[in-house]
Amino acid sequence: MEKALNDAKPRIERAVNEARPRVEKALNEARPHVEQAVNQARPRAEQAAKQAWQYTQEHEDDIKRAALRGARMKVRGPFAFVFDALQSGFSAPTPAGVQCPSCQTSNEAHARFCAQCGARLNDQEDPQAG
Ligand SMILES: [Zn+2]
Repeated sequence: MEKALNDAKPRIERAVNEARPRVEKALNEARPHVEQAVNQARPRAEQAAKQAWQYTQEHEDDIKRAALRGARMKVRGPFAFVFDALQSGFSAPTPAGVQCPSCQTSNEAHARFCAQCGARLNDQEDPQAG
């Protein structure tokens, strides 16, 4: 029996030694494919991250409003008014509003009359006016 093992040993070692370069070759051949896949995926991942970041930047107020709306529903009692105040702060009139030609007060874009002096606004933009 021992002789059989001793006879088999060199055959096993030879088989391992013969297989090793094939395994290493396969690994070496696979490596550029893996690196290529990683390199191809990286810009897409970076772009997706960039787009997500850009979206949060562009929709910062929307996201804050949505977050506040969600938070507001969970908050009851004495702290609720804080969320109401914050929320109205984010929806304050923007520079996109309309300035009164008479008193230069900034009114909301959809306003038809000046909140300050009552002068008519948006005359040219409203075909229904008159
Ligand atoms: Zn006015």
